[in-house]
Amino acid sequence: MKKSTVRNRIRIVTGINIILLIILVICGCFYFRSNNLDNSNLYDNDKVYDNENAEAVPGTDDETVDTPGGQESGTDSGQKAEDTEPDKELTESEELSLYSDLPYFISENSERYINYKKQHLDYSYEKVITYVNIGLDYDFYENVKSIENGHDITVLVNKYNKLPDNFEPELVQVDPSMCAPGVGPQYLRKEAYDAFVKMHQDAKQLGLNITAYGTYRSIETQHWIWNNAVNSGRTIEDVDSLNARGGHSEHHTGLAVDVIKNNYSVEETKEFEWYRENAHKYGFIIRYPKDMESITGYKYEPWHLRYVGPEIAAEVYESGITYDEYYVRVLEPEMRAENQTP
Ligand SMILES: [Zn+2]
Repeated sequence: MKKSTVRNRIRIVTGINIILLIILVICGCFYFRSNNLDNSNLYDNDKVYDNENAEAVPGTDDETVDTPGGQESGTDSGQKAEDTEPDKELTESEELSLYSDLPYFISENSERYINYKKQHLDYSYEKVITYVNIGLDYDFYENVKSIENGHDITVLVNKYNKLPDNFEPELVQVDPSMCAPGVGPQYLRKEAYDAFVKMHQDAKQLGLNITAYGTYRSIETQHWIWNNAVNSGRTIEDVDSLNARGGHSEHHTGLAVDVIKNNYSVEETKEFEWYRENAHKYGFIIRYPKDMESITGYKYEPWHLRYVGPEIAAEVYESGITYDEYYVRVLEPEMRAENQTP
């Protein structure tokens, strides 16, 4: 009996020793591992900073937060960030795809739409698509395209669309009796001139005198005007807000006419009062409306009329949008559709 009691005791003690040994080994492992992590933190402050940031993000699970800062949790949250990124992208393109039926949606511009929308969360997708199609996600005079339809009366000439250097429209001379005094010979394209004559004559019946103050300008003249304005000490930004650079002026097309004089006092004339409400009937629009500088690139120019034809002029007038917007939303899709029909 005594012997078996002793054997039992030995067995129990050995068992306890083995358990203690296992616990010791486990503790040793934990100690070694946490020591290693602490050391890595000493040399990797950026990772700790990243990790703190990651922990501040709501929705990070408890395991990550409890880890005492280190590579593992850093990698974890890194992976999470990578995981959520494509999800977000997908949502944005999914959102955008809801607008892909718009006639002015251009699929090649998708990435630009998404980026522009990110910068202008308060803009509707229609606005984003319109503005990107104009080119407004670039600065003025950046990403400039060469105009191919310079001879169309609907041509869009602006800071993103440049007439070719050798562009020359066919012109007719404006009867000097319809020009402002002392301006010298003036020229317009025939379509614009015929409309101008009609408008001038109808206005005359009402005792109003609408004259041509500035019409066609060659690319050389436009370059000269712009350079002169800059050399006069004005800032480039200021000059750009009123004067086009060479190749970017509507006056180069022979379709634009500055009536009376380039001065805001024109707004106080009876002539302005009348043509503001009637010019579209003859095919002219006030091309640079008030408070639209961010779209047109130009300050309000109540004196600058552009011929686009009566039908389009009426639509632009009724819609109250700029010609830049109208062009990319209505005219460009029509042209694309025409080009696609065999
Ligand atoms: Zn003008």
